[in-house]
Amino acid sequence: MVLGLDIDARQAAYPGLHLFDLKDGILYGPIPSRRLGLSLGINFLPYGNKTCSWDCLYCQCGWTGKEGSPAAADPARFPTVAELSAAFEEGFPALAKAGQSPDTLTLSGNGEPTLHPRFGEAVDALIRSRDRHLPKAKISILSNAERAAEPEVRAALMRLDARCMKLDAGDAATTERLDRPLTPFDLDRHVAALAALRPVLIQSFFVAGALDNTGPGLVAPWLDCLGKIAPEEVHLYSLDRVPPAKGLQAVPKAVLEGIAGRVRARGIPARVFA
Ligand code: SF4
Repeated sequence: MVLGLDIDARQAAYPGLHLFDLKDGILYGPIPSRRLGLSLGINFLPYGNKTCSWDCLYCQCGWTGKEGSPAAADPARFPTVAELSAAFEEGFPALAKAGQSPDTLTLSGNGEPTLHPRFGEAVDALIRSRDRHLPKAKISILSNAERAAEPEVRAALMRLDARCMKLDAGDAATTERLDRPLTPFDLDRHVAALAALRPVLIQSFFVAGALDNTGPGLVAPWLDCLGKIAPEEVHLYSLDRVPPAKGLQAVPKAVLEGIAGRVRARGIPARVFA
């Protein structure tokens, strides 16, 4: 059992890491990203509150509180498609005019973007405004893929330019302990949904300390899942923001590179971000 920390104790427990500020609007940034170039963040989720179907021990947004779970999230707290559209139509031309045209529009923000109650329509509004004002920008999403098996969500994901989807473990027990899904989790269904999203990029998070998913016994089944998904690339991360859980440690870059080497040995490109 990994014990949690309240928000006041989080920074003290991880003095070398930065806290992530929950977003209080729809657009944030742009910020330079090694992976995405100049990236403008897009938040489809309620302001100042994390909303997610998982509750990962390492989540930079903190714990998923009761009101942020899929069962309790109030649809009225999400920005409407009209509000999203208005933010794009105001913000995108302003960035272009200021010479800050982003390379990527990244759907991320305060949790899991696909939980927006009208996700497909929101995606279409984003694509329309992108085409009108920032035609060179790619649209990317960071998602846990929990809704990726739903046909409408899958179709919307496929309208984006890039899908960065989560797979932290190749066994259900480790996923339950590390990612703590708030809805019933089926690893085979998750892997099949990821495989159906090709081309797909897999992002995987590794931690050490109170929970360690870097050992050979856990990496082997994860590699087997990657073989079934056949992603275009795998990105490996470890702690770089303050997590909500106690006792986690960042995985040394050399260890991540060792795991990435095993991915490459299977013919799948892999990059380490540490
Ligand atoms: S899936 Fe992403 S947003 Fe949700 S708890 Fe995990 S890291 Fe946080």
